[in-house]
Amino acid sequence: MKITLTFDNGPTAPVTSQVLDTLACHQAKATFFLVAENLKDPANRAAAERAAAEGHRIGNHTLTHTIQLGDSDDPHLPEREIGQAQHLIGDLASPDLLFRPYGRGGILDHKLLSHTSLTYLQQHAYTCVLWNCVPHDWDSPATWVDRCLADLTTRDWSLVVLHDLPTGAMCHLPRFLDSLEELGADLVQDFPPDCVPIRQGHLLHPVDHLLAS
Ligand SMILES: [Zn+2]
Repeated sequence: MKITLTFDNGPTAPVTSQVLDTLACHQAKATFFLVAENLKDPANRAAAERAAAEGHRIGNHTLTHTIQLGDSDDPHLPEREIGQAQHLIGDLASPDLLFRPYGRGGILDHKLLSHTSLTYLQQHAYTCVLWNCVPHDWDSPATWVDRCLADLTTRDWSLVVLHDLPTGAMCHLPRFLDSLEELGADLVQDFPPDCVPIRQGHLLHPVDHLLAS
């Protein structure tokens, strides 16, 4: 059983630091998908720099995380929400430009991307990273661990979405990682291929179900 860990919507300095401490304790490497606007706070930027320095990958999770790309006809939205975010992330970014769209509630549907945003990702050689395991840590901060552990057993390779946000959920990250060790799970930093529909701008899987009509 392979597990890939991702942390979305940060950095939020205190919680991101707590997550980094926990990952370091377990010698685990993850990917942080940043809401780039958060980087305007120097403490948050320092937390993201620490993550990159400790071998975690840094990806783009939009500039503001306020509007789904498939929910707007604004032709400038991809440049703002993807391009400006990448500019703020700057040299913290992984060599592969990793982008994760905002999926309200973790739902993979036609609001995820627009045709213009898809073209933008292809033209700028982004790698689009989705997910297959969303344990709802943000709205069930005390109970996500057990739900996630049960869900992981349903597939060979899970790409888990967690959030380094001040919900209290990350206080349970140590128990989660302990449980993964007990299960003999193989914690990897790569992404399961079926969660990566676009790699370096190349469309690898159909995305019709993720596109606004
Ligand atoms: Zn998000």
